[in-house]
Amino acid sequence: MKIAILPGDGIGPEVIDEACKVLKALALGVETETAPVGGAAYEASGVPLPEPTLALARAADAVLFGAVGDPRYDSLARALRPEQAILGLRRELGLFANLRPVHLYPELASASSLKPEIVAGLDLLIVRELTGDIYFGAPRGRRHAPDGAFAGALEGFDTMRYSEPEIERIAHVAFRAAEKRAGRVTSVDKANVLETSQLWRETVTRMASHYPRVALDHMYVDNAAMQLVRAPKSFDVIVTGNLFGDILSDEAAMLTGSIGMLPSASLDSHGKGLYEPSHGSAPDIAGKDLANPLATILSLAMLLRYSLDQEAVALKIEAAVQKVLASGLRTADIHAPGYQRIGCRAMGDAVVAAL
Ligand code: NAD
Repeated sequence: MKIAILPGDGIGPEVIDEACKVLKALALGVETETAPVGGAAYEASGVPLPEPTLALARAADAVLFGAVGDPRYDSLARALRPEQAILGLRRELGLFANLRPVHLYPELASASSLKPEIVAGLDLLIVRELTGDIYFGAPRGRRHAPDGAFAGALEGFDTMRYSEPEIERIAHVAFRAAEKRAGRVTSVDKANVLETSQLWRETVTRMASHYPRVALDHMYVDNAAMQLVRAPKSFDVIVTGNLFGDILSDEAAMLTGSIGMLPSASLDSHGKGLYEPSHGSAPDIAGKDLANPLATILSLAMLLRYSLDQEAVALKIEAAVQKVLASGLRTADIHAPGYQRIGCRAMGDAVVAAL
C-alpha cells in the first residue's frame, strides 16, 4: 500500500509531520511518498498542481493532504492560485463523496459555543456530494436579463442540477456509512421549492429499499440548519448536495468548538480517497509550532479505515487522541484554564506516546 503525502502551505507541513510520526510509530509497512502542492508547488514549478504530484496521487492508494493557500498568492490568476490544487485533485481523482465526521470529545464539551448538555457526546457524519450541483452546473455566467421586472439589467446566473446516477452513488455512500453507525440517514434538500431537490428526494427514497437496516427521513435545509444548533445529537448521518453540504458542514464543525479537531475524507467510487483536516493553511500561526495537529492525525485514522481497510488501527489512533485529551494536554486553540498548553510537535509526540 502506498500513501501520497501532500503537505502544502502554511501549517500544512507542520500538521502533516505529526501525522507522519503517528504513521511511522504504527509500523504498518505502508510506503509513503511526498510531493509539493498549492503555493509550495507554484514556487517550485509555476503551477499549484504539477503533473508529477497528480501522477503520484493517481498511483497511490490514498492521499494525505495538509492545507493550501497563502495571502501572498491572492493576486495570482485564478488558475494559478493554491486552492485550485484541491479542486483539481477532486476532479481528476473523481472524489465525489465528502465525509465529515463531527465528533465532540467529552473532554472538549466546554469548547463549544453551545451548552455542554446540547453537544456532549455529539457524533454525527455529514456526507456531502462534492462534484455536482450549482457549483458546477452549466449554463452559468452573466448576461442582460432577458425578461422580468429587471429586463435588460446585468444579471448573474448559475444552474443547479443533479442526475439520478449522481444522487444514487452519494446515497449509497450515506446508507453504507449508516449501516456501520447508528443506522439512521437524514437526507437534506429543499424539495418544497426546487425541482432538483424533488428528484433528489425521490431517488434517495428509492435507494433506501436496498438498506432495510437503515431508517431514512427527509428534512428541508432551513430546518436542518436550525436542528443542528437546537438538537444536533438527533442526527446520525446527514446526506446532502454540494451547496447545502458546504454550509451545513461548516455549521456542524463549529459545534465542536475548534476547527483544529475535525478530519475529513473525499472518496471516489472505489474507496480511494483524499484525507485532510477541515481547516485551511492558517497563515496567521504558521511556523510557530502553534497548530493543532489532531485533525490531521484523525484524518490519517479515516484514511486507514476507508482506503486501507484497517478499522482496528483507526480505532487505536482515535483512542490515543482521546487519551491525550483526557490527560489534560491542549494546543492553544482548545486550551482552557486548568489544562496544560503544548505546541504542535509536543501534541504529535503525546499521541505517539499514547499509542
Ligand atoms: P483557516 O482554517 O486556515 O484558519 C481559520 C482560523 O482557524 C485561523 O485563526 C487559524 O489560525 C485557525 N486554525 C485553523 N486551523 C488550525 C489548527 N489546526 N490549529 C489551530 N488553529 C487553527 O481558514 P482561513 O484563514 O479562512 O484561510 C487561510 C488560507 O487557507 C486561505 O488561503 C484559504 O484559501 C485556505 N484554505 C484552504 C483549505 C484547504 O486546503 N482545504 C481550506 C480552507 C481554507
